[in-house]
Amino acid sequence: MRCLLISDIHGNLAALEAVIRDAGQFDMIWCLGDMVGYGPNPNECLARLREYPHVCLAGNHDWAVLGKLDMRGFNTDARLANQWTRSVLKPDSLAYLGELEPQRVEHDFTLAHGSPRQPIWEYILDPLTAELNFAAFHTQVCLVGHTHVAASFYMPETSDDHLCEPRTPRYNQPISLTGGRWIVNPGSVGQPRDGDPRAAYAILDPETCILEHRRVEYPIEETQSQMRTFKLPQRLIERLAMGH
Ligand code: ZN
Repeated sequence: MRCLLISDIHGNLAALEAVIRDAGQFDMIWCLGDMVGYGPNPNECLARLREYPHVCLAGNHDWAVLGKLDMRGFNTDARLANQWTRSVLKPDSLAYLGELEPQRVEHDFTLAHGSPRQPIWEYILDPLTAELNFAAFHTQVCLVGHTHVAASFYMPETSDDHLCEPRTPRYNQPISLTGGRWIVNPGSVGQPRDGDPRAAYAILDPETCILEHRRVEYPIEETQSQMRTFKLPQRLIERLAMGH
């Protein structure tokens, strides 16, 4: 099975379209949350995702626009974008988001938006945080989003000290998620924050546990010009071009 693994689309349809085109054929989409917030096309992104067989989590922005989280937990720009998103989301989109949970197990993979121990809020950015999270799930592999940074963390099963090793993603090179336990983040489709503005995603075969990190360029100015039209915060417009 060929699975398109994505996260943090954040209403950026141009980026999502580029990822879908670049991914080639796939059997289903696994989406790790934050489909909306920040970007100009929340309804369109949800509709596009729902055209495919898929599983989808809720992220903190998805819950914020539903009113399930206090908006005061967000910085000013994120809050303004979430308020705008809430004002444009169609009833059907809101109903769809309302059904989603921030964590689930699928095909023997744990899926969590932030982390398995705090699926809505925690960021797994460093090996120590990753290490503490290995105790919070029972499958071999956990897939997370939320940081907007593609990453993987490997926990050897055999080593005495059980130290978690960070692995820098090497794009277009399949890796085998076996021989130990893993936490993997495909990065963000719609708002990458690792200094590379290209959309990030991964291809995963859940049966063989082979995963490949990928990046693809998309017309950033298309998204930016729509954000200007909708008067979304300037800093959110600018950061897309910087990948931060
Ligand atoms: Zn996000």
